[in-house]
Amino acid sequence: MSRRTIALVGRPNVGKSTLFNRFVGGRAAIVDERPGVTRDRHFGKAEWGGESFWVVDTGGLVPQGADAMTRAIHEQVDFAIDAADLVLLVVDVLTGLHPDEHEIARELRRAGKPVLLVANKADDVPRTSAHHEFHALGIGDPLPVSATTGRASGDLLDAVVGALPAAEEELPRDAVQVALVGRPNVGKSSIMNRLLGVPRSVVDPEPGTTRDAVDSPLRYHGHTLNFIDTAGLRKRARVDDAVEFYSTLRTNRAIEAADVCVLVVDAASGLATQDLRIAEAAWGHGAGLIIAVNKWDLVEEKDANTAARGERQLRDKAAFLAHVPFIYVSAVTGQRVRRLPPAILEVAERRTARIATAEVNRVLERLVAKHQPPQAVGREVRLLYGSQIATTPPTFAVVCSRPEAIPEAYTRYVVNGFRAAWPLHGVPVRLKLRARRRKSA
Ligand code: GDP
Ligand code: GDP
Repeated sequence: MSRRTIALVGRPNVGKSTLFNRFVGGRAAIVDERPGVTRDRHFGKAEWGGESFWVVDTGGLVPQGADAMTRAIHEQVDFAIDAADLVLLVVDVLTGLHPDEHEIARELRRAGKPVLLVANKADDVPRTSAHHEFHALGIGDPLPVSATTGRASGDLLDAVVGALPAAEEELPRDAVQVALVGRPNVGKSSIMNRLLGVPRSVVDPEPGTTRDAVDSPLRYHGHTLNFIDTAGLRKRARVDDAVEFYSTLRTNRAIEAADVCVLVVDAASGLATQDLRIAEAAWGHGAGLIIAVNKWDLVEEKDANTAARGERQLRDKAAFLAHVPFIYVSAVTGQRVRRLPPAILEVAERRTARIATAEVNRVLERLVAKHQPPQAVGREVRLLYGSQIATTPPTFAVVCSRPEAIPEAYTRYVVNGFRAAWPLHGVPVRLKLRARRRKSA
């Protein structure tokens, strides 16, 4: 999944959310549901012609009064400039050109942002010419489309894909993709600065470059750790109201592309619900996971037990956290930040582990000998043999006589047994139970 992102901006009622739904189709959209946001913000994934990208409907406030309207439009545009590779300015051919649209076009031109001008509600395209007046905006040819009927939406999608930057990035093939994720203000940018050196990471991308999702490669002992989407770390949305949403969008994009996620949490506040949700998303996606407990300098009475006690409390929040390394750091003093790169590399290597079939079966036999699966009434429940069928993350298949009769708890027992046998700390492990294939007579 590519992290390329397009944002829809424009005045209320021009058809942004209708267009959004057309792009994203039936796929689940993530909605910003905070109170005060009267028009929801959405983002979701779209695919066209084998290309994938994210779509953001900036939605936001429905303003009252002219001032508020101007402010709301500025917010939208700011947001789009921060978060998107390509902006779609949506206008309405039925109502015609509006002065606010001149203002938006000016801002986008000033930011040097790639823009497509979408002339929506051209319901009788291609017989219409109503869109031509929007040439006056000076941001290129208006593309007539009808979001409700879908007319010309394929042409629009072709134009979108054509205007997006290429998906592939030039990086060594064995680069480890790392996502530094966490809630706002936990210290992600500060850790990044520690790791990469301040001068490099405060430099903004060249003005007018199409990519805001800047990656920062770090060379470490002959390996490349590529920190994903680091621009999102420092180029905070200028709108307070949008920070949380922007951060969620960024997190989702990054996790999808990551081999290893470093979840930064604030030592003072412990593991918040939101932190846990990010950890689960990373783990569920099959990424390696490390939890960096930051601002350790602020924790008082740091005897040897403080960390252990805190860690127990954190791990109690979810069973899988028992398999995740915790590193206690301070971006301010630099304490232990240097331990992150080797830890990341180690988790990335474990995630590519290949366990020989004979070894899988040796361990499996031992586990089964120690604890049989519970026997239901009727046919015998037996685990026959297993093998590793995939890496990143390590995935095993075990063939059994009656997979449906094996309870979740027993599957967990086997996975934990695998974990104990091989070094897989920080890496999710998957186990698939398969039925024995019957030989046809
Ligand atoms: P937003 O406020 O920009 O997100 O606009 P909406 O997507 O909510 O659309 C506003 C209104 O315009 C709704 O009543 C839509 O049904 C209507 N609308 C959206 N796209 C089209 C279109 O292509 N043609 C026509 N005729 N109406 C449209
Ligand atoms: P981000 O939003 O996650 O990127 O967080 P920032 O890196 O911008 O940090 C948010 C705030 O926390 C800033 O004021 C930092 O100076 C502060 N901060 C970051 N790391 C530490 C730390 O290790 N110790 C202390 N005391 N403050 C920190």
